[in-house]
Amino acid sequence: MARYTEAVCRLCRRENQKLFLKGDKCYSGKCPQEKRSYAPGQHGQARNRKPSEYALQHREKQKTKRFYCISESQMEKYFEMATKRKGITGENMLAILESRLDNVVYRMGLAMSRPEARQLVNHAHFKVNGRKVNIPSYLVKVGDVIELRDKSRSLDKIKAVVEANSAKPTPKWLDVDVENFRAKVAAVPTREDIDLPVEEHLIVELYSK
Ligand code: SF4
Repeated sequence: MARYTEAVCRLCRRENQKLFLKGDKCYSGKCPQEKRSYAPGQHGQARNRKPSEYALQHREKQKTKRFYCISESQMEKYFEMATKRKGITGENMLAILESRLDNVVYRMGLAMSRPEARQLVNHAHFKVNGRKVNIPSYLVKVGDVIELRDKSRSLDKIKAVVEANSAKPTPKWLDVDVENFRAKVAAVPTREDIDLPVEEHLIVELYSK
């Protein structure tokens, strides 16, 4: 999969939205999005034309991809999956995105950002239902138990992240047992559970053309 390797803060500035891709820095006064809330590049401050309908839909899709750090082909795949589920397609799509293992690790408070969670999963620090899983795109389902592997529990880095995230709320669709680095998927996430500033209907309109 093609990976974005340039400065990720440019992505936030492009979307005019904090995407929380850098961990601690995102919560500090060093966040570039807070200092310069206009698009990067030579013409970043000059873009004040009224966006077209297509531009709005495209930007919403790009922003959502960047929140979850996924590729275009993965986004298209999740949209296709969402259309096959009962219910509202946009909400189904967000529920699928939330169910990715890297996102679940982030939501459990065991990583400071989704990219960090992805790396932890890639490095095989987690088990799902007792079996090692190192695929960030693995989709969890109701009843699954996600936990940090025994050999990873003594890592200072993870202990520090848990400490830093201790005051952050965990989503109600996950039963999180922080002391044991474990969570059980209690329900399919609903739209109210997903705190992302995304207008998912615009993405559905874009892909439905
Ligand atoms: Fe985005 Fe975080 Fe960089 Fe701020 S510090 S621009 S929120 S990635």
